[in-house]
Amino acid sequence: MKIYDISMMVEPDIMVYKDNPAKKPVFKNAANHAKDNMHETRVDLDIHCGTHIDMPLHMIEDGKTMDDFDFTRLYMAKAKVYDMTGLEKNYISAEDIELLDIEEGDFVIFKTVNSFYDKSNGFDNEFVFVDESAAKFLTDKKINGAGIDALGIERSQPSHMTHKLLLGADIIILEGLELKSIEPGEYKLTALPIKLKGTEGSWVRAVLSE
Ligand SMILES: [Zn+2]
Repeated sequence: MKIYDISMMVEPDIMVYKDNPAKKPVFKNAANHAKDNMHETRVDLDIHCGTHIDMPLHMIEDGKTMDDFDFTRLYMAKAKVYDMTGLEKNYISAEDIELLDIEEGDFVIFKTVNSFYDKSNGFDNEFVFVDESAAKFLTDKKINGAGIDALGIERSQPSHMTHKLLLGADIIILEGLELKSIEPGEYKLTALPIKLKGTEGSWVRAVLSE
């Protein structure tokens, strides 16, 4: 079996949403060999930093949290990676995906030009996102989840309709994927989240296998 890691490396100067310094992870050495004969690290890490999933609570008041999450939905899930790198605009709408073979229960992953952006240049304000019409289409298809190679599945849309439609339909949102070397096609997706009490999402180590 071939396994592909599609997760971002979490490090102090990782690219964060809108380059907001408050969202950068802080690594603190809590013990070291010279002083303590061991090594321990403490990390202050925003839930939406790096590769992560969003739960309904992120955009819906009183929405479901990680507590209620059925993790088996992210274990060897049927996933389809679609090549969206040829888009002539910087968002995905319903007309761009209506002819794709998206079926109920699929984990739909969009590979866009975002995967080829050089993150050392800081946050890309023009990143490709999923618009409201595409979110509506995916919701009607009753998919398991939607993933994208950006830190957001939408970009400052008024009232966050893409998030609200997907999360309102109990569709998992997976953000911060690294898809540069991934060929479009069918895979199994495994992206197990941490058991975090009451949070609106979690970091995951996302892998595709075939
Ligand atoms: Zn998020």
